[in-house]
Amino acid sequence: MELFKIVTDKNELKKRCQEVEMPLDEETKTLLLKMIDYLKKSQDDEIAKKYDIRPGVGLAANQIGINKRFLAVYIIDDKGNEIKYGLVNPVITAYSVQESYISNGEGCLSVKEDVPGYVYRHAKITVRAYDVIEDKIITIKAKGFLSIVLQHEIDHLNGLLYTDRINKDNPFIEKEDAIAL
Ligand SMILES: [Zn+2]
Repeated sequence: MELFKIVTDKNELKKRCQEVEMPLDEETKTLLLKMIDYLKKSQDDEIAKKYDIRPGVGLAANQIGINKRFLAVYIIDDKGNEIKYGLVNPVITAYSVQESYISNGEGCLSVKEDVPGYVYRHAKITVRAYDVIEDKIITIKAKGFLSIVLQHEIDHLNGLLYTDRINKDNPFIEKEDAIAL
């Protein structure tokens, strides 16, 4: 497996990533597949321990030092299904007004110490992107955890970290209509 060096420098992560030229070059395609594989293996306790890596469900290009708009996602859902994407130039084309948040807070491979607080995001989103797995432009209608992960990763491409979205004065501020995950 490819072991990526994860960028943790906040100044590097603040830069907005550039559009990827299409059609996609083979190099980026291969890299995205390796990023998905990295995430999958990072969720295996033994492999994570062996290589001293943290488990992750999403990885944006700038987290491995490439300032371009692509990202990988690897999630096993409640039913044990594998959800994986290698998205290029993702755009959120629609979103719900209703918000959701993870009650245990978010984490990030690029933020070593967990920063406590709620991160409110759109409960449902629609994302349009080229996907390397399907090898075409796809539309994803996401809710629940997947919606959160996609927004977290797209934030990275825009130079934003989850910690930027936590209310500084009241990290655990309650929003009545928001869905707790
Ligand atoms: Zn992150």
